[in-house]
Amino acid sequence: MTVLLQTACSVDDALTLKVPKEGFEVVQHIPVNAEGRSQNTLYLNPRRIKSDEFNSSELNTLIDSMYTVMLRKAGVGIAANQIGKSLQIFIIEAKADNPRYKVLGSVEKQVFINPKIINVSKARKNFWHGCLSAHGEKRGNVASFEWIEYECQNQKGEIQRGKLEGFAAVIFQHEFRHLMKGTYLDHANHLLPKEELGIKIKTGELPFFELANDTLPILIDGYQLGIALDEY
Ligand SMILES: [Zn+2]
Repeated sequence: MTVLLQTACSVDDALTLKVPKEGFEVVQHIPVNAEGRSQNTLYLNPRRIKSDEFNSSELNTLIDSMYTVMLRKAGVGIAANQIGKSLQIFIIEAKADNPRYKVLGSVEKQVFINPKIINVSKARKNFWHGCLSAHGEKRGNVASFEWIEYECQNQKGEIQRGKLEGFAAVIFQHEFRHLMKGTYLDHANHLLPKEELGIKIKTGELPFFELANDTLPILIDGYQLGIALDEY
């Protein structure tokens, strides 16, 4: 009986803004067909933030906590379902001295709530993705759009529209993929250990952030422009 009650509680917690006393841990990916995938928030449909939840201390505290986890893990982005919350929120930020992705320069901190992509470039670029939810896994080569235009809400609930390109567009699409459910590991066909990849990029043997051809899997494959994430 106790076990059943605890299970019911944890499912509900994923849909609330509540920050657990012990803080958040990063949820790790589970391969297709492996046990536990259907209960893991990385593979559950995140809900929208409702109008009465904006501009609240609960929402701001949750977002601050997400950001703290991202900084502690030296990530350049984090989605709510990576910390066990089935909510449509993600953050991106890359500092110029980030040890994980130094090469591409800085991206300013931005919080996206209930995001949609409303337009994308024709051109796509390759990127070798890693992820806080893919600890110890290989990096994976997938394509993302060179630029995207988005619509979302900020913490006050105001509608925001903008365009991102370069590294910011890559991180945005990486986090957006999380909220569409899943990680790059569900899509990449070409995976390499980080060290080996580093050498091959340095010697020019492999492309790094170059125009991608049509055969490279698209990270946000299946997304229809302008559609809310509730549909995925
Ligand atoms: Zn990730």
